Amino acid sequence: MAAVGTAFTGIAFPKSSYGAAQPPKKKHIVTLSFDDGFKRSSVKTAEIYEKYNLSACINVVASASMKEFHAPDYPDVPRAGFGLWNDLQARGHEIMPHGYKHANKRNLPFSESKDLILRCLDVFDKELKGFDRKQAIFNFPYNASTAELEQWLPTQVRAFRTGGAAINPLPHNEQVKLTCTSFGPNNCEKAIDREIEKLLGMESGWLIFNTHGLDEEGWGPIRATYLEQLLERLLAIETVEILPAGKVLKQFASARQ
Ligand SMILES: [Zn+2]
Repeated sequence: MAAVGTAFTGIAFPKSSYGAAQPPKKKHIVTLSFDDGFKRSSVKTAEIYEKYNLSACINVVASASMKEFHAPDYPDVPRAGFGLWNDLQARGHEIMPHGYKHANKRNLPFSESKDLILRCLDVFDKELKGFDRKQAIFNFPYNASTAELEQWLPTQVRAFRTGGAAINPLPHNEQVKLTCTSFGPNNCEKAIDREIEKLLGMESGWLIFNTHGLDEEGWGPIRATYLEQLLERLLAIETVEILPAGKVLKQFASARQ
């Protein structure tokens, strides 16, 4: 989907508009951050984003397609591997790390968490074409981080996503911590609608909502039809940009210098 790349070149504001004292008054960025890499949902999510010439934000577990992987939650849901992730990335979507084996790092010693994160990044280096950990966002499983990990992780990756407020300020170049919210185990559409409403009531902000599967798949799913309607609704609002997290940091933050 070559058009995705060209679509993004129009997103950054001209330097002059941010170089001046007055940035644009209203700006709302929406990132739906899809976790876990369920095969069927990921394919469908990507197709829906492509329909609107948008890039999806998909965060996957490094070892999910390896023999030794034991899904901690939703063991019956088939996961995809790097064959699909490379294909989706080539089509303009963003594929980011969501742990080596989806461990809750609040329950582990620092050294073990660190080891798992480094193993996760090593797999990404090896398997995902063009992967650059210095541009990557590490998406904590369960959005569970610790102060020690939050301090260490920016030495390895560009930024990390963990639990906290759903609405972040517009990003800046030094930003390493992104916070998000999620809702489950049942359908999370109402929770997304509430956060969107809150965002649109603000002058500016970046909503990161941690989504998962589509239709009945996995924890806190949304319907595919809801996703289409949501994207259509948001695309009609002039102040809104729908972007994956890495592109927000790369393009939006640098445009504000
Ligand atoms: Zn997860």
